[in-house]
Amino acid sequence: MQVFKFGGASVKNAENIKNVTSIISKYKASELLVVVSAIDITTNKLEALTKNYYHQNGDFYGLLEEVKKDHFEVLNDLFEDQTHPIYDDIINSFVEIEWILEEEPQDPYDYLFDQIVSLGEILSSKILAAYCTHIGIATKWVDARDYICTDNTYREGIVDWQQTEDRIRKDLPEILDNHVIITQGFIGSTSENFTTTLGREGSDYSAAIFASCLNAEDITIWKDVPGVLNADPKWFERTELIPELSYTDAIELTYYGATVIHPKTIKPLQNKKITLNVRSFINPEGAGTKIRTTNQTLPVPSFIFKVNQVFINILPRDFSFIVEDNLSHIFNLFHQHRCKINMMHHSAISFSVSIDDTGENIQKLLIELEKRFKVTMEKGLELITIRYYNQETIDRVVVNKEIIRELKDSYTCQMLVKNI
Ligand code: ASP
Ligand code: MG
Repeated sequence: MQVFKFGGASVKNAENIKNVTSIISKYKASELLVVVSAIDITTNKLEALTKNYYHQNGDFYGLLEEVKKDHFEVLNDLFEDQTHPIYDDIINSFVEIEWILEEEPQDPYDYLFDQIVSLGEILSSKILAAYCTHIGIATKWVDARDYICTDNTYREGIVDWQQTEDRIRKDLPEILDNHVIITQGFIGSTSENFTTTLGREGSDYSAAIFASCLNAEDITIWKDVPGVLNADPKWFERTELIPELSYTDAIELTYYGATVIHPKTIKPLQNKKITLNVRSFINPEGAGTKIRTTNQTLPVPSFIFKVNQVFINILPRDFSFIVEDNLSHIFNLFHQHRCKINMMHHSAISFSVSIDDTGENIQKLLIELEKRFKVTMEKGLELITIRYYNQETIDRVVVNKEIIRELKDSYTCQMLVKNI
């Protein structure tokens, strides 16, 4: 059996959804489970809505109307007949959110986020399933929350693999015998049946979970790029497609911030030796990239850029050394404030990190750190990672930049830089 994952861009309008269904129909004879993300930037809009609702400021009903409009536009372009049952189904899905919004917020933000933002995937998967059925593909819509079991870490649910596998294995193989399954990425549920999400951009991870539990032959992530490239075309004019990649290189690249695949995706696939294809939904005939067991190292150096970095330097106030007890206190604070470290370095009396500029939580983190340490901070930096670097590639990327920190091991070079 195979698992396909389609991201938000691949279903961003009716035309793209038709393209997705044509890809699905080519493979419908094999056992196929399809994981889909929310349409286009719906998740961002729902996130903004949740923030406004939680703080009771801003126009959250306006944002809800916008999300509705986006989805009904897609529906109207897909179905000529507005009495099709999908219309009621979508209206009812919105009603659940409207119920939440009617009351003043009582629950913690992270919990509310998951209850509201998960709507994006519910809507997209329902629309895609309805359209597949409409054009004659035997389709079954499955609610991922009945299968992906997590703890109650809202916004970053930790998967209970045993439970998840038991549930998936019990029901899904039989359905796959004669249906294409369409389900949601990104979402799961707690043992009390509250919706959780797996972290932003987590649909790839969902697809890997289904693939692993179903012992899939392979999984394909359909993207708007030809496959895994050696650099993000957003920053580089010339990029090269990497035809084959080892699991280890793929894990390293995504760990350092390559956004082509969600970092949690690869490990479960590696454990089961399931090949991960990254292919283009724009050019579905293209070979794309195969991530699998291989001795091949990357054929070319790969570049990963992370912008909007904050450099934080931490010095003990009492001039004690940076040792285990300091470090464990510092790491705890970063973890509590959900600040993910992209690069770190320590010397005898200082510890420094680079993290994404995520705003409010950093301010809170600094207040805590300053209780025990002298802290300095610099914003607006870039973190450049080169896998399989050489001096020439380093020289190329640091033109007009000042290097603030540089870390190297045998394969990877990380540089935190500032524009000059
Ligand atoms: N829709 C979710 C997000 O944008 C999940 C995903 O796209 O993978 O974060
Ligand atoms: Mg997305």
